[in-house]
Amino acid sequence: MHPNIDTHLSKELTDEELLRYARQVLLDGWDIDAQLRLKSARVVIIGAGGLGCPSSETLVRAGLGQVHLIDDDVIEASNLQRQTLFLPTDIGQPKALTAAAMLKEINPLIEARGTVARLSEDNADELLDITSGKPDLLLDCTDNFATRDIINRISVRYQIPLLSASAIAMQGQLALFEPHLNSGCYYCVFGEHDSEAVTDERTCANSGVLASTTAIMGSLQANAALQYLGLNRNPLANKLLLWDGKLMQQRVMGYRPDKLCPVCSNH
Ligand SMILES: [Zn+2]
Repeated sequence: MHPNIDTHLSKELTDEELLRYARQVLLDGWDIDAQLRLKSARVVIIGAGGLGCPSSETLVRAGLGQVHLIDDDVIEASNLQRQTLFLPTDIGQPKALTAAAMLKEINPLIEARGTVARLSEDNADELLDITSGKPDLLLDCTDNFATRDIINRISVRYQIPLLSASAIAMQGQLALFEPHLNSGCYYCVFGEHDSEAVTDERTCANSGVLASTTAIMGSLQANAALQYLGLNRNPLANKLLLWDGKLMQQRVMGYRPDKLCPVCSNH
């Protein structure tokens, strides 16, 4: 599914790794090979906030080999309610660097780095480190539609799978697009910003979010990423997951690629 990983697969796990990941390697359907694939994977996470904190933490604890966080924001007091990698003493510090340092502390066996920047189509080459090979997966953990559109175009341009999560109030959405398999893209599902699929321009900053919503959506995002990276399977192929925290209900809807999509139909 993602051609990169198997070609640069690490040969074995160290004793320290075997000990740390013992409960995972024991799992039915998750073995040493899955753990090695995860160890060999490189993931770029855009947004080190409410979603980026829990998803990166779970991936790093699980043994993801390389994580790179990109975020141009600094930590504020109002972030501490849900951004689980930050402490009150971190207020004023850059999120990307603080989160990367914390992840490295949580699991010294992995590589974590942070870049204080805003990802754009102009700097994507450099920020994603394309010259040293494409990342295996992009995680969209941002909180506004303009950046989501940019990340989607980057995913399609470089043909990098995109795992897109969103969380607002007590609701969340999750999808995993595979442009190299012509799976359709974020635009195919959500269209323009003002289309009906996207309710409005709400963000966490202007309409609030319950602490558990970002924790749940970040965990679901990590759950999909682990299967994708470790087991070569997309549990959300051509599906959109919708979480409703008020009703405690999850729905999974199918979608089809838009043959006339202005973003992905020409690739
Ligand atoms: Zn599309």
